[in-house]
Amino acid sequence: MTSPHAGHWREHFAGIDLPVPVLGGGSVTGINFDNAASTPPLKRVRDLVTRFSDVYSSVHRGTGYKSRLSTQAYEEAREHVARFLGVDSASQVVIFVKGTTDALNRIAAEQARLDGRHVLVTEMEHHADLLPWRHRSGHVIAGLSTSGHIDMDAIERALVEAHGGIGLVALCGASNVTGFVSPVHEVAELAHRHGARISVDAAQLAPHHRIDVRPANDPGHLDFVSLSGHKMYAPYGAGVLVAPRDFFSGAPEVMGGGAISIVTWDDTVWADLPDREEAGSPNVIGAVALGVAVDTILELGFDEMLAYESALGERLIAGLARVPGVGVLGGAEDGKRGARLALASFVVDGMHHGLVAAALSHEWGIAVRHGCFCANPYVFHLLHMSKEAVTAVEGEVTSGHRTALPGAVRASLAPYNTPEEVDRFVDAVRHIAAGRLRATYVQAGDGTFAPAGGWPRIESPLQAASRRA
Ligand code: PMP
Repeated sequence: MTSPHAGHWREHFAGIDLPVPVLGGGSVTGINFDNAASTPPLKRVRDLVTRFSDVYSSVHRGTGYKSRLSTQAYEEAREHVARFLGVDSASQVVIFVKGTTDALNRIAAEQARLDGRHVLVTEMEHHADLLPWRHRSGHVIAGLSTSGHIDMDAIERALVEAHGGIGLVALCGASNVTGFVSPVHEVAELAHRHGARISVDAAQLAPHHRIDVRPANDPGHLDFVSLSGHKMYAPYGAGVLVAPRDFFSGAPEVMGGGAISIVTWDDTVWADLPDREEAGSPNVIGAVALGVAVDTILELGFDEMLAYESALGERLIAGLARVPGVGVLGGAEDGKRGARLALASFVVDGMHHGLVAAALSHEWGIAVRHGCFCANPYVFHLLHMSKEAVTAVEGEVTSGHRTALPGAVRASLAPYNTPEEVDRFVDAVRHIAAGRLRATYVQAGDGTFAPAGGWPRIESPLQAASRRA
């Protein structure tokens, strides 16, 4: 793969060429392949946050200059997000929340209160898109194909068999484990045909794929979309919930100042949306940062960025597939471009996932994630574990032996990553999978591994700041 744009994207991101300590006392330029967990900020976003801090004030109710300025920026951010997702503001509302988990929990609370019918989920979901439904309305789980893809027949079967008893279909726009992109509009059509709405957990999709919620009269439109700023180059604590305007009615789940029109001694008149769902002082800086992030992505050339990312992802998966003893979860087959994010989770024969991750960090300066990625049922499925095997693991874990928890290692890319980094990573995995570790590691009771002598001492920015003070 040629990489004409590699440098071009890289220069727009903060904190990229950071020296990180490695085995032996030296340092190397770190490689961050943990973008599915959280991304660094775009430089423009970071700089905006610094500048905006000088004029920041509380929004909506202040008449002071800074308050009016902040209110304007906050509402502009909402418009930027609406534009980015193709939201039709007449039928849908953009609500600023903390992140995807917060958004999904809010939908779940209202869904249980206002509708009460079951929620259909897939086996692929992150716990944030599984537990809120399970513990509110109750869920029906649609199975997947053996390789872990969405099974449209299973979804349709579940909807038919429920005879109208499913009020919402909740699925991820893209998996944080395999990177498989879901056919959200096809599922939306199915859901609508069976009298249900659709909620898309877009935590992974939004930064790495085009989203268009489509107008409400389109059978494939998306009713709810949830996303997190920290996964899309604006890690300042804000996220977004897009919802139908007619969904929220009555008292909101979170109550307080700003959410009301008037409160008397014994009566409450709730404000219109989005205020009703944004009680309390909102995270103005986070929202503005997110608004600037989505605008910047579009301005830099989102489609070219995604094409570059896709090619990088193909290189990653092809590289891993060539390493003896490595198995990519969900398979390493070439799919249609755009059908899989630039992300791969893999296992190494005979080696604990935590050990692989520790060696990548300690010996190579490469950051990845390991474990079950908050998607236990999906990882159990991908590892082809039987119900009995999962029950045995559950017994071990509940009696305090987390070392028994199976898992994988995940490398997740972003547009600032380069083909050279991918090649270095694949080389590192090849060394590790061949057993060529250069240090000794010990496993703690929580299942994590660390170098036998402990991790090299590091000074946090907080310690550094108080030392300077
Ligand atoms: N859904 C998916 C698919 C995710 O990857 C994540 C984050 N790992 C979440 C939901 C939750 O996002 P947040 O932690 O930002 O609330």
